[in-house]
Amino acid sequence: MTDPTYKVTPAEIEEQQRRIREIAALPDRPQTYCVVTYGCQMNAHDSEPNTGMLRDMGMTEAPSREQADFVLFNTCCVRDNAERRALGNVTWLKEVRKRNPRLMIAVCGCMVQEPGMAERILKQYKFIDLAFGTANLHRFPELMWKALHSDTTVLEIDTRNTLAEDLPVQRMRRDAAYINIMFGCDNFCSYCIVPYVRGRERSRRPDDILREAEQLQRDGVKEIMLLGQNVNSYGRGLEEDVTFAGLLRRLDETGIERIRFMTSHPKDLSDSLIEVMGSARHVLPQFHLPVQAGSDEILRRMNRRYTRETYLSRVRALRQAVPGIGLTTDLIVGFPGETEEQFQDTLSLVKEVGYDSAFTFIYSPRVGTAAAKMPGQIAPEVATDRIQRLIALQDECQQQAMRRFLGAEEAVLVEGFSRRSRCAVSGHGLHGLSVTFPGGAEDIGQIVRVRVTGLKNNTLIAERAEA
Ligand code: SAM
Ligand code: SF4
Repeated sequence: MTDPTYKVTPAEIEEQQRRIREIAALPDRPQTYCVVTYGCQMNAHDSEPNTGMLRDMGMTEAPSREQADFVLFNTCCVRDNAERRALGNVTWLKEVRKRNPRLMIAVCGCMVQEPGMAERILKQYKFIDLAFGTANLHRFPELMWKALHSDTTVLEIDTRNTLAEDLPVQRMRRDAAYINIMFGCDNFCSYCIVPYVRGRERSRRPDDILREAEQLQRDGVKEIMLLGQNVNSYGRGLEEDVTFAGLLRRLDETGIERIRFMTSHPKDLSDSLIEVMGSARHVLPQFHLPVQAGSDEILRRMNRRYTRETYLSRVRALRQAVPGIGLTTDLIVGFPGETEEQFQDTLSLVKEVGYDSAFTFIYSPRVGTAAAKMPGQIAPEVATDRIQRLIALQDECQQQAMRRFLGAEEAVLVEGFSRRSRCAVSGHGLHGLSVTFPGGAEDIGQIVRVRVTGLKNNTLIAERAEA
């Protein structure tokens, strides 16, 4: 039986709003904040309500974490290095506090929710003023209030599967926005800690998502990115009979200019979703479809529940429905027991698909997951050698895949100036690739039609298309 979803009530949200007003009225509260975010888009999006609440508490953003009165680390624990980096930076800030005794240090996100972390914080990281888990985000104001009135660490971790609507949000961009459509994950891939730190899968009601999208559209947002660990299983457990394909169709009808989403699990990629991809007007021709490995045996032990062939058949169906679609993926090397031959299966799959880009990871054992207890953990030097070979191959395949854009037109949502020149701007094209072309400040936030003239590393070089 799945654990029930706990819906945060409007009265609870109102109580948090009251706390925000009380904190804003405190004469000796922190005046400035800095939010440091690690990890995936979902974490980046979680930082938006955190920032919105800090703003409503009357604080302004500090130019750097060293200059802030309040620093919040929104952490990730998907791989060991993300966790170590976060803990290293938190500890370093302890030194900064020697110069600025007013400094408050807070930690939230996946790492706090990790088994055993609460005890570690209370014993080893006593200097942290406030720590709260992913399910407690909506309670940040009340916890902040407690931390302002406490000499010891205030810590709250909830194991309920919470779902909260209508939190104050400070969006990072005006032209593009994230929308969470679901939280948690029920897939329990054997290497992954997400189901343990983000709880059971739960979906937001379609009307709430539509309402948020329509408001963003009225605010001038041109592109929305729908977020979830496995958006393809959106709708499970809701009273309404709604699928991800159905939700996309309804969002497409709102007329919002560009719709993207991530992440899709290959086992749940339905024919109806592929059909919507082919016929919707505003859903962009791009698809992030993590494969993780190319060997059936490794996929089985990863508990991915698809085979290499079923994955490849989904890729073929997507390409048939949306010719030229931009495909990207995630890959793990050095999974326990992975032989050279099985690694070669990953290389051959990468070659066969020809992804536009890929996130490549060395397997990192996570305490509490099934894979961490599997025999045959791979030596670091073997895993490093494999990832280097994988990256080299993917770079080659990417260059090859990008050639299909030469001479073609793309519509670019311009994000800012190019890193290399103040006379050029860059953004993302319809297919998800980064595009740079001559332009100025007036282009930022606009969708500009360009023609691709060249390639440089993983960027398309372009010029304005003639009107
Ligand atoms: N839900 C998504 C999915 O199904 O692919 C992705 C979630 S996870 C935060 C992002 C990526 O991190 C995964 O696709 C996987 O490649 C990688 N990852 C997760 N756990 C890992 C581990 N223990 N070691 C190395 N990479 C890992
Ligand atoms: Fe992790 Fe698998 Fe869930 Fe993705 S689908 S979050 S990899 S358990």
